[in-house]
Amino acid sequence: MFQQAIQHYLNSHHYDHLSLKAVLFDMDGVLFDSMKNHATAWHEAMRQYGMHMSREEAYLHEGRTGAGTIQIVSTRERHREATPEEIEAIYRTKSDLFNALPTAERMPGAWELLQQVKACGLQPMVVTGSGQQSLLERLNQNFPGMFQADLMVTAFDVKHGKPHPEPYLMALQKAGIAAHEAIVVENAPMGVQAGVAAGIFTVAVNTGPLPDEVLLEQGADLLFPSMTDFCENWEKFFHSIK
Ligand code: CA
Repeated sequence: MFQQAIQHYLNSHHYDHLSLKAVLFDMDGVLFDSMKNHATAWHEAMRQYGMHMSREEAYLHEGRTGAGTIQIVSTRERHREATPEEIEAIYRTKSDLFNALPTAERMPGAWELLQQVKACGLQPMVVTGSGQQSLLERLNQNFPGMFQADLMVTAFDVKHGKPHPEPYLMALQKAGIAAHEAIVVENAPMGVQAGVAAGIFTVAVNTGPLPDEVLLEQGADLLFPSMTDFCENWEKFFHSIK
């Protein structure tokens, strides 16, 4: 099953083989179990402004800018665009609600997978649209010794966020590697889209409530139902690459 997915990738990108050097991890919903909090905060913030946005919908918009999400919901729910003032107010409400929730835990299986990745001599990297100031500190606390600051891509590094390929292309550039020397690990439709658009073999881990099809439709090369499942299959997967 893995060999078939890898062969399909190689054929469509005209490569002979994958020579893996780095694994590019998305952060929210992959390394941290943080999407539930985002979904709750979005749902509640919209409710306070008289609009309906289900928790599940938050997962569909994952990776979009706050303003972009607010415009989509406002246009649908109120048949008009939100003003810049409204966008600011709604987004501030969402952020306040999010920050009041307990800090998200490590995603189950993430630490174990990272250890395997490292043991195989590969460089783990983080590629996130998040722009939290405390990001590196939090990563180092939860995943000590795993990530290098100079090999991270955050909101501060790029002009275009996911689904644009820029964040992943920037990661390749920072690591000095080509597309067939990395794989992407993503949980969101727009994240998968970004990895695929960057020409990188993209593994979807479906850690949220969306149907698998939503991630596969964006071109995911492989899908696992959880990080734990990916971790259990890592050896087999890594062997298939070699
Ligand atoms: Ca994510």
